[in-house]
Amino acid sequence: MLLDSFQHKGLRQRLLKALYGKGVNDERVLTAMGNVPRHFFLESGLDKIAYDDRALPIGGGQTISRPYTVGWQTQLLSVVQGEKILEIGTGSGYQSAVLCELGANVYSIERQSLLHGKAKSLLAQMGYHPNLVYGDGFEGLPCHAPFTKIIVTCGASHVPQSLLCQLAVGGRMVIPVGAGNSLYMCIFDKVSETEIRQTKLKECSFVPMLQGIS
Ligand code: SAH
Repeated sequence: MLLDSFQHKGLRQRLLKALYGKGVNDERVLTAMGNVPRHFFLESGLDKIAYDDRALPIGGGQTISRPYTVGWQTQLLSVVQGEKILEIGTGSGYQSAVLCELGANVYSIERQSLLHGKAKSLLAQMGYHPNLVYGDGFEGLPCHAPFTKIIVTCGASHVPQSLLCQLAVGGRMVIPVGAGNSLYMCIFDKVSETEIRQTKLKECSFVPMLQGIS
């Protein structure tokens, strides 16, 4: 049963304050994160630390991103109501839920069938209806392109050209890129069909983006 107690709500508010102090100051993003009980996405044994600002295991050797990272990446997306957003790395489904809260039309790809299945049933139970796809994020979703925003929640060794192709003109992709443990958050703004502007932000850490499905 999904229970969001007063204690959970209190811990969540405290977390949001901490995130504000760290620079996640977009009120819409904080409200969205305040509406999504993070502990629902974790094993019950992790209940007590679900609102710590840290990445936590979700099975399959993967992690739910640190709340600061979710807030920061979401803030960088400047989500507009109704826009089509592609997420690479559904994982627990938490980031998808936050994007749904912001009114986005969410598509999300996951390469591990177990995680895809778990996220699908949990999000439906919570009343969210993103389009969850089991597949390889390196390919994107050409049949649903273009997307006005793309968010990659795993660390890519290179920038997938297919994703840049599936980005709408005027759109933005937020993606951690780099080798091994040295990842940097990057923004790609598609200014025109032929011009893409890249901005490299600070260092970050993510599980790796892997080829193929499992
Ligand atoms: N956004 C997730 C974060 C999960 S961690 C959340 O809110 O919980 C990153 C996820 O990316 C992992 O589940 C991993 O299996 C997935 N992943 C890694 N490479 C991928 C790829 N090529 N395509 C799709 N998903 C991928």
